[in-house]
Amino acid sequence: MRLSRYFVPILRETPKEAEIVSHRLMLRAGLVQQQSAGIYAWLPLGHRVLQKVCRIVREEQDRAGAIELLMPTIQSADLWRESGRYDDYGKEMLRIKDRHERDMLFGPTNEEMITSIFRSYVKSYKSLPLNLYHLQWKFRDEIRPRFGTMRSREFLMKDAYSFDIDQAGARHSYNRMFVAYLRTFARMGLKAIPMVADTGPIGGNLSHEFIILASTGESEVYCHKDFLDFDVPGAETDFEDVAGLQGIFDRWTSLYAATSEKHDAAAFAAVPEDRRVSARGIEVGHIFYFGTKYSAPMNATVAGPDGVERPVHMGSYGIGPSRLVAALIEAGHDEAGIIWPEAVAPFTVAVLNLKAGDSATDAACGALYTALKAKGVDVLYDDTDERPGAKFAKADLIGIPHQILVGPKGLAEGKVELKRRADGARELVSPSDALARFA
Ligand code: ATP
Ligand code: MG
Ligand code: MG
Ligand code: MG
Repeated sequence: MRLSRYFVPILRETPKEAEIVSHRLMLRAGLVQQQSAGIYAWLPLGHRVLQKVCRIVREEQDRAGAIELLMPTIQSADLWRESGRYDDYGKEMLRIKDRHERDMLFGPTNEEMITSIFRSYVKSYKSLPLNLYHLQWKFRDEIRPRFGTMRSREFLMKDAYSFDIDQAGARHSYNRMFVAYLRTFARMGLKAIPMVADTGPIGGNLSHEFIILASTGESEVYCHKDFLDFDVPGAETDFEDVAGLQGIFDRWTSLYAATSEKHDAAAFAAVPEDRRVSARGIEVGHIFYFGTKYSAPMNATVAGPDGVERPVHMGSYGIGPSRLVAALIEAGHDEAGIIWPEAVAPFTVAVLNLKAGDSATDAACGALYTALKAKGVDVLYDDTDERPGAKFAKADLIGIPHQILVGPKGLAEGKVELKRRADGARELVSPSDALARFA
């Protein structure tokens, strides 16, 4: 992409309405624009990051055996009357009437709809286990939308729903998502810790929130410090291996980690003092086993091997990609701007032309740009006629992990400068060596 033809609306002033650094940087770097309270347009740079986050989420869902589909945003109230949640949900639900005065709503989540899809088609245990997921916009009329896309009213969610014949099967389905989530967040360079979370009125202990420690997080959490150094399961993990996945789950839940709702002060006191972390965190994912809570009232039953019909055991599993974009910035920034991990950066490399109009510099930049594109590297070419200082500042603000600085002085010696955004490390190399660094 040539910056001169791209759309990166940088703000000069720091927006006053933004209270936390990720919100400030998302507005300043031109990632999003607020349309109404808690409702954002994703501008090209932000959209690229969101897409990269979603790609990692998808790859790990698919790896774990979940199957993608796409459900609508608008739902019929009748579905929610079946589960009894239409009245329970309260003001967070955006209720709409269509021209025939039928009650509709903008989906805040999809348990009811997926249960209705399931019951239309699946009749036998032979079709199980099944896990269906989608990435779709949700709407929740949050009392206090704030912190930009961290707590917005319209937000993107990956929500998966598992179906099993019994509790043992559901347990394995839960572990699949548990391990998929560990991998998903680690691939984005985040340390997300699974913490025992509230299951609400259904009880039981099978719910975990995946939390990133951050001072600006809205959750109060308590955990053992060693989790921060735990190894994440590799890509070779066998998701069919029931005992293997249970082993990973057991290890990752062997130490204390709980959200404030489930906090047990006595158990926490048993953690050695220098290993205790009592901090704030951001909920980036939440997994849940809820048995027959929806399948029983909604008659989603399947016949077992004995021919007897029984309500299917379900779980649901959510990740918030639009919240994650903000969380990634909370976890990666400095005074100059955003520091994206390579896996989700909008572009991997920026080529900065430090003297646009100088024929040798233009030619060297053009050659680098073309060669990087040909290799499939996401490259942003700053070919504008701004002065070098402004280009450095912009590249740092938008957080491109690698910058190649190309100017007449270096070129006279056959060199360009490679700069790494994360730590500012620089080195002089030949243009061909610079190229060879990128796959
Ligand atoms: P919170 O406690 O922050 O209100 P939640 O527990 O209500 O979140 P879930 O119903 O568990 O959220 O939804 C799954 C995921 O969707 C969350 O873990 C989070 O990543 C994301 N999410 C939920 N609400 C929002 C929101 N208002 N804005 C952005 N992302 C959200
Ligand atoms: Mg909520
Ligand atoms: Mg929550
Ligand atoms: Mg939650």
